[in-house]
Amino acid sequence: MNCPVCSKPANFTIDLDQYPVTEIYKKFGENKKTLAYMDQSFEYCHSCSHALLGRHLPRDFIYNNYNTVSSSSSGSVLALVNFLQFVQDRANFGNADVVDIGANDTSLLSEISKCGDKPRSLTGIDPNIKSDSSEIEIISCYFEDLEKSFSDNKNNIFLCSHTLEHIYCVDTFFEKLDEVSNNEDLFFFQFPSLEYLVIDGRFDQVHHQHINYFSLYSFSILLARHGFKIVDYQYDRSHYGTLITQIGKKGGKKSFVKHDLITEEYIHSRYKLFKDNMTLSNELLNKLDGNFYCYGASLMLPIINYYLPNLIECIAIIDSNSKKHNLCYINFDKEIIGEQELQFSENNLIVTALSTKEATRKILIKLIERKALNVILPLNII
Ligand SMILES: [Zn+2]
Repeated sequence: MNCPVCSKPANFTIDLDQYPVTEIYKKFGENKKTLAYMDQSFEYCHSCSHALLGRHLPRDFIYNNYNTVSSSSSGSVLALVNFLQFVQDRANFGNADVVDIGANDTSLLSEISKCGDKPRSLTGIDPNIKSDSSEIEIISCYFEDLEKSFSDNKNNIFLCSHTLEHIYCVDTFFEKLDEVSNNEDLFFFQFPSLEYLVIDGRFDQVHHQHINYFSLYSFSILLARHGFKIVDYQYDRSHYGTLITQIGKKGGKKSFVKHDLITEEYIHSRYKLFKDNMTLSNELLNKLDGNFYCYGASLMLPIINYYLPNLIECIAIIDSNSKKHNLCYINFDKEIIGEQELQFSENNLIVTALSTKEATRKILIKLIERKALNVILPLNII
């Protein structure tokens, strides 16, 4: 596939044959027929330091099965807090029109409505939007299909949190953003960075829903093509190695140098280390004295199972969220049950909620406090 940023062919590919579809649960024992696996590839373009998926699930399939709710995961909540702090240090919500692209359950807009300086309006755009606040206008559509414009407003602040990586055509997205906004408006984006996916060796964070893996460099090149520039940025390594940026049509810096660590050789060596580590964890599961449970029915558990095939030998998956109990995954046929059914001190537990550092650290503390017999962590960097 050609790179969506610079149009050159990708330099190399990591094949992910029969890669599991994530985020789809079913009732345990139910016979649900849906797409559960698809051949995938993770491709890298050295010209602009960008990574992308080689194949795309149908866009509507993903959104019909989308289960991520910002307010229900502690990692996502922390990511919004850090993002909001970055925005507040650089913008004033007082009398502004605030537009959240990919607003999900509108938890970010709800937080802003509680800030001291009252915005003039709050608008959330998302095909899966949910809100019970009368202060927030909700628009249920993909941003690229938006019919409303904000260009008559004087003081727009556009926010876009963990959405850009899901966008199928980033050119259409930025053409729309340019069309509906003014030259003076403020724009803030956050998304998982390629840099810290690679440096932290977190290849389990590659999944069918994340189409593009931007680096600071590739993002700046894409922006330049649409008349935007990076004004300021920082990395947040607590959640998905996130890159938080302020961008604008005026001011800012046009070009950035590539991160010197992100080379083809380095990506390959980090992927090999990640896989070797997973293979060892898989072996360990085979050699355990006694049975084991998974702890954490995270959306991405099928990807952990992709690298740890022995995970399927678990008795069940433990999760404290009762809404998940008696469910299982479409591609991991073990029941999700509550903690009260388990004697922690007599059982081996493998941590399977790994998507964000913050959530995994909290689970580790909990399992240690409960005196679990053994705690197994598939990743040894956390
Ligand atoms: Zn490229």
